[in-house]
Amino acid sequence: MPSPTTVSRAFSVIRQSRKVGRIRFPLLGYQVTLLDALPEAGGTLRTALPPYRLPREVLAQETQRLMSIGIEFFAHHVLGRDVSLDELRADYRAVFLGPGRQQGREWSVDGRVPADLHTGLRLLQEWVAVGTIPDVKSAAIVGGGNSAVDLARVLRKTGAEVHVITHDALPKLGVPPEGAMKAIPREVKQAQEEGVVFHEHRGIQRLILRGERVVGVEMVHMKKLPRPDGSIEIVPFEGTETVLHVEQVIPAIGQVVLAAGMERILEGRPFFAVDLWGHVVNHPGVFAGGDARQGSRGTVSGAVGDGRRAALAIDGYLRGVEVSEHCAEAIPLDSLNLNYFEHAPRAEEPLLSVEERSGDAEVAGGLIEHQVMAESLRCFSCGECLACDNCWTLCPDQSVLKTKELASDGSHYVFDYDYCKGCGLCARECPSGYIVMEDELLFAGQYK
Ligand SMILES: Cc1cc2nc3c(=O)[nH]c(=O)nc-3n(C[C@H](O)[C@H](O)[C@H](O)COP(=O)(O)OP(=O)(O)OC[C@H]3O[C@@H](n4cnc5c(N)ncnc54)[C@H](O)[C@@H]3O)c2cc1C
Repeated sequence: MPSPTTVSRAFSVIRQSRKVGRIRFPLLGYQVTLLDALPEAGGTLRTALPPYRLPREVLAQETQRLMSIGIEFFAHHVLGRDVSLDELRADYRAVFLGPGRQQGREWSVDGRVPADLHTGLRLLQEWVAVGTIPDVKSAAIVGGGNSAVDLARVLRKTGAEVHVITHDALPKLGVPPEGAMKAIPREVKQAQEEGVVFHEHRGIQRLILRGERVVGVEMVHMKKLPRPDGSIEIVPFEGTETVLHVEQVIPAIGQVVLAAGMERILEGRPFFAVDLWGHVVNHPGVFAGGDARQGSRGTVSGAVGDGRRAALAIDGYLRGVEVSEHCAEAIPLDSLNLNYFEHAPRAEEPLLSVEERSGDAEVAGGLIEHQVMAESLRCFSCGECLACDNCWTLCPDQSVLKTKELASDGSHYVFDYDYCKGCGLCARECPSGYIVMEDELLFAGQYK
């Protein structure tokens, strides 16, 4: 067996501890083994994210932190080649699949592809691994996600003229998220600062080829029209064609799951069909999440959240109990009384100027300690009792009583409804939206 070195989220398999004392067990007390095709942990963050966006020492610290709680990591283990799902099912009591989306989506224009076609993801992976990038004077990247923007910035560093062609709108105020490019708006802005040219609401109508090689593309304005079934159709506008002379076209239009070894679970679907907790339908003991799950928004925080929920679900499965989680309802902004909060501007992360952005230097750094503390003080603690005494002090009927011990709702106040006239002053003056006025008839109905 390889010795544990570091950790990744590719495939985690969980078995009840039979080796007490060998390692410190992860938080819920199970022994967890992670298997990954790659030599090191970190998944896409290690293989495709440019280091100027995520310094590798930060990633190493994170993966080491996970390892230190006792997770075993087996590198060079490819599911479907070195180990089968049946073997994992036999050896472990539960299996979590998190293979991400490792393959760029196929792309062509009227069935034609240039001879030197590479997906944006593949080019980024090569650049991150060995530092090679196509040596071109100009390139058009098709797509509006993080891969498209990251590759555009990497190519731009070589001095190439770089165009990003996207059906979506540039992210800006007034553009709804569903109509905007999927890339992080801040990254789009930085790419623009660096000289990347964005062509929003555009598609490629025709490849202009000399032999098999691209010498240009014909772009056309695209419009999104709603279909009667609620879906969106993207249609070209005739007469809006323009030609862009470029040496290379690179599609970065999303990624798909590599199915090898997981065909039985995928059942012909491109992604895993799972519930909120990651249970794979019809496969008890098998869980999935991250980018490979249907409906994933393709973000790190989404993948981490999937992993956390699946861990709770696996714990429930192994103990034979139903898993549930209390989700607090979102508190609308208008339930807060902002007069009680001092205005404080948002902390700005340190940002390198365009001239300083070279090599692997981190372009947008993290906040420093005092900024993090200041940010935490900007928190409204929505829906939490701040023990500010407003309700107790301001109630004209003295129907709010202050308690020494915590009341049943966790606050220090109880309401004496025999004296409450329902004026609502307490709710209006509650800074955090903790006190809510209920319709008396509905309230009475509930407790009949
Ligand atoms: C260029 C780029 C930029 C991005 N920028 C951001 C960003 O700024 N912010 C953000 O939130 N998200 C970003 N993302 C998305 C983010 O990387 C993913 O959402 C996240 O990594 C998904 O995590 P995951 O664990 O599901 O999959 P991954 O991180 O892809 O990890 C999957 C792991 O499974 C392993 N694997 C796959 N198949 C097998 C197999 N058969 N056998 C063994 N191992 C296997 C892989 O080797 C890999 O290590 C970006 C993605 C890309 C490509």
